[in-house]
Amino acid sequence: MSLTVLMNAGPWLSVPPPGYGGIENVVATLVPELRRLGVRVVLASVDSSTLPVDEKIAVFDDGQFHALQRPYNQVCGISQAHLGGVVRALHARDDIDLVHDHVEAVGLATLAAMGPQAPPVLHTLHWDLAKHPDLYGNLDGGDRVRVNGVSAAQLARAPRALREHSVGHVHLSTPLAVDADRRPRPDKGDYLIILGRINPGKGQDVGARLARRVGVPLVLAGPVGPYHRPQDLAAAGDEARQNPDVRFFYDEVAPHVDGDLVRWVGTVAGQERDDLLAGARASLFPLRWEEPGGTAVVESLALGTPVVATARGCLPELIEHGRTGLLTADEDELADLLLAASVLDGDECRREAATRFTPAVMARAYVGLYEQVRQTAARP
Ligand code: UDP
Repeated sequence: MSLTVLMNAGPWLSVPPPGYGGIENVVATLVPELRRLGVRVVLASVDSSTLPVDEKIAVFDDGQFHALQRPYNQVCGISQAHLGGVVRALHARDDIDLVHDHVEAVGLATLAAMGPQAPPVLHTLHWDLAKHPDLYGNLDGGDRVRVNGVSAAQLARAPRALREHSVGHVHLSTPLAVDADRRPRPDKGDYLIILGRINPGKGQDVGARLARRVGVPLVLAGPVGPYHRPQDLAAAGDEARQNPDVRFFYDEVAPHVDGDLVRWVGTVAGQERDDLLAGARASLFPLRWEEPGGTAVVESLALGTPVVATARGCLPELIEHGRTGLLTADEDELADLLLAASVLDGDECRREAATRFTPAVMARAYVGLYEQVRQTAARP
């Protein structure tokens, strides 16, 4: 196939990410499969990205994740500087057939504003947008931009302007889902895990209270705001509290973290992350937001760990209640489900991941969308 795609992963983390990184993990999963299918990939990211690609565009040497707690205008400044590099590249060349953009609203707005000089754009929505109807404003240049969701539930909640430009949804995948059904089966430990950013939407406070109620150890893994390790957060002092996730952690989660039954281990990566997830009795998602894509949900399945979750957002699309996990609409019922999770068969989870969520399945779906976008949003 002769197709060159500029994949815009943004300036926040390198690709693949050093640990936490939903969008960057998706890009790191998608790109090798696209290249296997013959797509040329120009990656717009930071210079420290190590993902093999045909070409790289970077404005920053390293990921700017640490700057996310800065004032909003500075955060926007970083986005704009990165996008400036993308726009300069697009002005300077005419071999890019399509931009696959992953950088929140500002990326799409900038590319749309380029007008007919820019190639068609497919923008993947990664967030729950129902609460942010203004984020995308009007899609100027909208005829050349299309969006896709990462779940049907997410798209259904998106503002109308986005739904009108939508070409459907593609579920997320993870490299872990390659041969998920053939991996060695680790022994299950007697603990639960919540893998993800510490954030009210992810509900670590609910999880910590539940774990204490049922007396099962709980591991919380993930960054608190820009802080990856407990010692970094401790060293940051009071200034760190400007970040809302840090405040949430101190006010709602930390009081339950006793270092014994409930532990916060910071960000985990690579084999350590995989072993921790594979060894858990269940992976817990006590969600308070409408989870849009749920990379960590798919990763749990791929590693043979059943999911116990509130049935919000994409969870009912990813999890079959009673087979690969247990879902409830009622937060109080989660405690019973946690105790029941051991009856679920981890092999069913692996089989599901190996069938529905492989990188190859995701890449084929995206190639189909690229064709659709090029046909309907071609350059004049
Ligand atoms: N993650 C990780 N280490 C951590 C916490 C998270 O590697 O300590 C990864 C996790 O495996 C997943 C991603 O970060 O690939 C989070 O993506 P998800 O879609 O679950 O959440 P969100 O994008 O909303 O943060």
